[in-house]
Amino acid sequence: MSKDKQFVTEITPQGEDFSRWYIDVIKKADLMDYSPVRGCIVFKPDGYEIWEHIQEEMNRRFKETGHRNAYFPLFIPESFFQKEKEHVEGFNPELPWVTEAGGEKLEERLAIRPTSETMIGHMYSKWIQSYRDLPVLINQWANVVRWEKRTLPFLRTSEFLWQEGHTAHENETEAREETMQMLEVYRDFVEGYLAIPVITGQKTPSERFAGAVDTYSIEAMMKDGRAVQAGTSHYLGTKFAVAFDIQYLSRDNNLEYVHTTSWGTSTRMIGSMIMVHGDDRGLALPPKVAPTQVIMIPIGPPKTREAVIARTDELFKELKTAGIRVRVDDRSDVTPGWKFNEYEMRGVPVRLELGPRDMENGVCVLVSRISGEKKIVQQDRLVEEVQAMLEQVHNEMFERALKFREEHFYSVETLDEMKAAMEEKRGFALAGWCGDDACEAQVKEETGATSRNIPFEPGETKTKCICCGEPAQHTVVFAKAY
Ligand code: AMP
Repeated sequence: MSKDKQFVTEITPQGEDFSRWYIDVIKKADLMDYSPVRGCIVFKPDGYEIWEHIQEEMNRRFKETGHRNAYFPLFIPESFFQKEKEHVEGFNPELPWVTEAGGEKLEERLAIRPTSETMIGHMYSKWIQSYRDLPVLINQWANVVRWEKRTLPFLRTSEFLWQEGHTAHENETEAREETMQMLEVYRDFVEGYLAIPVITGQKTPSERFAGAVDTYSIEAMMKDGRAVQAGTSHYLGTKFAVAFDIQYLSRDNNLEYVHTTSWGTSTRMIGSMIMVHGDDRGLALPPKVAPTQVIMIPIGPPKTREAVIARTDELFKELKTAGIRVRVDDRSDVTPGWKFNEYEMRGVPVRLELGPRDMENGVCVLVSRISGEKKIVQQDRLVEEVQAMLEQVHNEMFERALKFREEHFYSVETLDEMKAAMEEKRGFALAGWCGDDACEAQVKEETGATSRNIPFEPGETKTKCICCGEPAQHTVVFAKAY
């Protein structure tokens, strides 16, 4: 059998090799496949549907906060990148270029977008003339390409799917309000929808987006203690406005530069979700984005089979009408036990079993993927009971992830303690930092941890830099990151 076609028969336990576990799970649960191009993946229907549910809800929240979607071109002229120095320096190493098309060499190379600040900056300079044109609140759903050295399905791919918001405002206050508002939209979505607790805070200058004045992020802890930056929101000041000449006539008739923001989240969220909630049995999907929320499995001997299936179908219709994503597996060539394992591995939040005795009693059995709890419920209350269990699964997933994070969150005073937190105990470390890039770099070199963010709510305030011992300017969360 070719290596590509090999089927994962067993899932490597998390404790044995977490990276292997991750790859086994996403392959076995049929979320993705590798593509012939390095670092790019195929989103198979179950993987893509998770993304669709993420999109639906995020889109709703973006619109609720006044944004509209638009679409900008994939190709960006090289000259655009030269206009903002930090931006080009940051992105140049990762840019793929189109140099030839239609059999001819292009006069100007075209980059495949890694992000759209430059293209959008160019367009905004044409669209914005007066304060009456402001604010501009636009979001784009698109694919972007960053030629990453290290890749990992969903978490870090060369081409990924994302949304990027780009807004322009009259002044700094409004633009900063927007930056924080969108960070909060991200936090609320990731916690409320994906059941992932996150730490909100500001990035240190070395981790800032190339060309931003300030970058803010939400950071999540995976089950191996490593961090994932799950979303970022940037205040760009007037840097891109100056580079692309986005000026407007102000209320007092002065020509002024707009203040811009950008913010993005990607298909990385799918990878985070898997690493936060999955276990040795496989995936555990948060109910709000699970392609299948309830799997119905009729059970019992052949002689009652027809009646059980008929009743299952009726209940299926009720759940479906109530808007629940439900499926029936009534195959007779595999045993119920096999099916139980299969849907647990696929992370389906709730299993519904219906057998002949349940039929007689007018009940059925609901089983939670996350806790294994079995609940016998009345069939005439099925919709409410299922909705309640889905809600309970979501809450339990969040609580478990939060508990895990709290148990793996260490307050440290020395580099040795930081090292221990990274290697033996595996988790996040809260430490003081003097504000010097050199100290931050040394922490990374000696412990492997990078600064994740300067949390808004650190819980305690550090007074000394973990590296040089000078007074701390900031209390920072450090971790090894994906
Ligand atoms: P940025 O434009 O660099 O602030 O990135 C916005 C968001 O996109 C980040 O917060 C990540 O969640 C995500 N992201 C960045 N690079 C990648 C990548 N190579 N693969 C998947 N997601 C990414």
